[in-house]
This record gives sequence, C-alpha cells and structure tokens, in this order.
Amino acid sequence: MNFLPAISASALQALQDRAEINLAKILPRVGPSLAALIVVYSVWDLLLDPANAIQSSMTRVLFAGLAAIGFWPVVSSWTAHFRATWSHWMLSSGVILATAQLDGGLVEGVGGIVLGLFLVPFIANGASHFAITVTPPALLFILCSVAQCTLPELARGLLLYGSAVAVAFMQMRIAIAIRFHALTIERKLIRDATHDALTGIHNRGWLAQQAALAFSAARRYRTELVYVMLDIDFFKRVNDTHGHQVGDEVLKAVARTIQGTLRESDHFGRFGGEEFFCILPHTSKETAMQCAERIRQAVAALEVQAADAVVTVTISIGLAPMMDADGSWEDQLKRSDEALYLAKQSGRNCARFSD
Ligand code: GH3
Ligand code: MG
Ligand code: MG
Repeated sequence: MNFLPAISASALQALQDRAEINLAKILPRVGPSLAALIVVYSVWDLLLDPANAIQSSMTRVLFAGLAAIGFWPVVSSWTAHFRATWSHWMLSSGVILATAQLDGGLVEGVGGIVLGLFLVPFIANGASHFAITVTPPALLFILCSVAQCTLPELARGLLLYGSAVAVAFMQMRIAIAIRFHALTIERKLIRDATHDALTGIHNRGWLAQQAALAFSAARRYRTELVYVMLDIDFFKRVNDTHGHQVGDEVLKAVARTIQGTLRESDHFGRFGGEEFFCILPHTSKETAMQCAERIRQAVAALEVQAADAVVTVTISIGLAPMMDADGSWEDQLKRSDEALYLAKQSGRNCARFSD
C-alpha cells in the first residue's frame, strides 16, 4: 500500500529537521505527563492483583524514571528523535514488565500495552526508525507472553499487538504524507512571497530584507558592500513599439542575463517595473564597477526575437558603495538611486557612482 507521494531527499531532510525541532519542544512537555499516567495506572494493578501491585508499581516508577532521561537533553549526544525512541522503549517496557508481574496481567492488560504504539507515529519518521522504535518492546512482549500465556492467549495477544503495529505504521505513513503536503504548500508560499512572478527572480521584499542584513553585517565586520541599481533605458518604447508581451520577454531575458554575470554570493532581484537591484557583499568599488560594466555589456549584446524584429535594449546602472555617513541601508539605497539618475543624465547605457 503506497499512498505516500514521492518525497525528494531534500524535502525528506527538511521534514526530519523540522520533526527534530518539534520533538525537542514536545518531549519535555508531554513526556512527564505520560510517565505520570503510567505510574498512576498502578491503581489498575491494585484492582487486578493486590498481592503483586506494590512490586509492579515499583517497576512502573523505575521505568518512568529511566524514560525521563529522554524527556530532557540529559545526554548531549542524543538527538531528540533518539530521546523519544528511548522514552518509548522505557515506558512501553515498564508497562509490559509491570503487567507481566500481575496474575493474568498480560491477558487482561494487552489493550493498555498496545496503546503506547499509537504514539510511535509522532516519533518515527520512516520505516527503519519505526522498526527501531517498535521492535524492542515488541520482543519483550513476545518473550513475556511465551513464558506466561497459554497458546490461545498468546495467539490473541500477538494478533492484537501485530494489528496495532500495522495500524501505527499506517498512521505514521499518513502523518508523513500530511507533513509533506504542508511543507510543499509552505515552500510554494515562501517562494511566491519572495520571488517575482514574471521573471522568477527575487522580488523587492526579499531584496529589502537581504539589503538590510548585508548592511548590518558589513557594518559589524567592517567589510565592503556595494548596492547596484539598474534600469532599462527607454523601456516604454519597447512596449509601445512591440507590445507588452515582447516587453515581458525582454524583462525576462534581461533578468537571466544579469543573473548569469553575478557570483553566488551576490543577491539580485527585480526591484520594480524595469528596475533591478544587486547587492554585492565583500566587493570593492573597483570590482563593483567592473561587474556593472560586465552587466551593461551583456545586456547591450542581448537580442530578443519579437514577431516583427529583433529587440535590443541598454541598461543604466547606479552604484553606491557603503559609506560611513550611511546611517541605514535605506540611506545607501537612496544613493544607488541617485547614482542611477546620474547615469541617466550622463546619456544612459553607462554606470555611475553616487558621489
Ligand atoms: P528611462 O530610460 O528613463 O528609464 O525610460 P523608461 O521608458 O525605461 O522609463 P519609464 O519609467 O518612462 O517607463 C518604464 C516602463 O516600464 C513603463 C512600463 O509600462 C514598463 N513596465 C513596467 N513593468 C513592466 C512589466 O512588467 N512588463 C512590461 N512589459 N512593461 C513594464
Ligand atoms: Mg527605464
Ligand atoms: Mg524605471
């Protein structure tokens, strides 16, 4: 039965990372309550078999204590996933061993014993992790049942336990499918919120965030930072002459061209209309100008095929290297805009500094 969608390795990793964080938060909150519940169940032991109830209660307390090692990051090398698995092993084993000490306990208490299995879908993030989590208590249950039960009792117990394992496994698969679905939607929402729908490059909101981050990092570590504002020259004419659709194609081609000239560490996006923006961290004034020249030439060489003609465009570029006088990233941004204005004033198809 395969109702899980195909999950890429990166999505699987993202799901596991998220589950790890969630488990780390949930364990200290839920673990103690579960352990307390299992100890409180001593009342059931007392009702079923008063003669052995004290002994079984001690077992419950002992294993609840052992389980508690997993509730908090006591052992620093243990991941939250392993801590959860450990706690499950201890709590389940505690219940099985406590029940096994009662006269007829394993037969009467099998329903309670399997309940713990329905917590495994919250812990396990795949078939192998599920098997690791479930197997030790299952073996303990089988061992105790073989030692104490008649054959029909053993068969009934194993059938019930096995069915619960199967249902828990299905629950885990459904939980993973739901989490994956949520992750896919979330990733799409984040992409839509940070990218420009037309060109597919980053949008203004994302650029503003990166510009602010780059500004504070450059200030703190005293490194260089250049903002570059770019604007297509006479773009209105392209639309007026060839139509909006061709204009859109030109915008996409220009975006691709600029992106292709930049380094991985540079940030780039569409700032609005026919304006683009680059953030060049750790870049000197001279290198930024070389980069701007490269972009200018690449855009000028670009040819976009329209129905009736080959469209070419040029781009004007304003550069603002970070200055001591810049009180905020907006100040530096303003200067890149002023530099762009200078480039337009200087006849377009050129790059200019703000000062
Ligand atoms: P300048 O050299 O001074 O920048 O002149 P310009 O014509 O490029 O500047 P202007 O601000 O007058 O016109 C910008 C044009 O960009 C007008 C607008 O229709 C066009 N534009 C903005 N966004 C889009 C878009 O998404 N698609 C298309 N096709 N055109 C767009
Ligand atoms: Mg323009
Ligand atoms: Mg403009």
